[in-house]
Amino acid sequence: KILLASICVAFLAVKWTVPTFDAESLRGARVLVTGASTGIGEQMAYHYARFGAQIVITARREKVLQQVAEKCLSLGAQKALYIAADMASESDPDKVVDFALDKLGGLDYLVLNHIGPSPFSMWEGDVEHTKWLMKVNFFSYIQMAWKALASLEQSKGSLVVVSSLLGKMPSPFVAPYTSTKFALNGFFGALQHELAMKKSNVSISICTLGLIDTESAMEKVSGVTSVPAYPATDAALNIIITGATRQLELFYPWFTHILTVSKDWFPSVTNYVIQNSYNYSP
Ligand code: NDP
Repeated sequence: KILLASICVAFLAVKWTVPTFDAESLRGARVLVTGASTGIGEQMAYHYARFGAQIVITARREKVLQQVAEKCLSLGAQKALYIAADMASESDPDKVVDFALDKLGGLDYLVLNHIGPSPFSMWEGDVEHTKWLMKVNFFSYIQMAWKALASLEQSKGSLVVVSSLLGKMPSPFVAPYTSTKFALNGFFGALQHELAMKKSNVSISICTLGLIDTESAMEKVSGVTSVPAYPATDAALNIIITGATRQLELFYPWFTHILTVSKDWFPSVTNYVIQNSYNYSP
């Protein structure tokens, strides 16, 4: 109990030292958000719009992007442009960054958020799907980050990577997805070090999210787990604030931080809890 209490106090101390968020800093900010046709990405687009940012959004479905962009303008975005792209393609990640740099005249925020659909089931050996998912969820992220880096360096900008608790703690039924998120954490964790050592102007924020109530996530887990889902709009706002205040990490909801620590300190207990949080019988 004493140990748990000390951990909680340490986490609260970290929370209290977080820099204050100045919403005005986002007025006119040039932002590219990926995976913004739906879910958390869509909610981020609306928040940035309310803050008066200039936004480029991307995903595959052009019609849906158009509707999101129109809503962004009605909410107060200074600009809201969209470009349809498939992040499994070799060239689309570069094309999207070039479009944003051209239309906005540079970038202050690159928010990497998209994911390709992946089954929620036991691993049955589909290597091709895992390779494809790596392209969408990982390789396109590093390609876009590299393409945008020079502009972010100039603007003292921020790179925001939306990751997952499953990028820190493997879970059943999502082996390909978990792999892509571990890859992101590894790569961008290394890049955080390198940029700091080079005294770069660019900040990288890696966001660890728990279960969020987006349609695609709920479709997969409802009836399968009793883990609570948190609101996408709140997750989106927390991601934006983390990027704007240039924090290295976000844990949302807060207890995801404790879970990542408990996995290393109490592996057997954590594994027991994970394996018993799903309705499954062989
Ligand atoms: P959604 O499935 O709701 O949205 C995914 C987005 O990615 C959509 O805009 C989709 O649009 C786009 N997309 C899918 N495939 C491609 C592709 N091949 N090329 C380009 N864009 C594509 O995801 P969430 O909002 O639930 O998740 C957002 C982020 O949050 C992800 O990084 C996810 O890992 C993370 N996260 C989510 C959690 C949750 O419980 N929801 C938990 C932990 C982390 P379109 O179909 O039009 O291409």
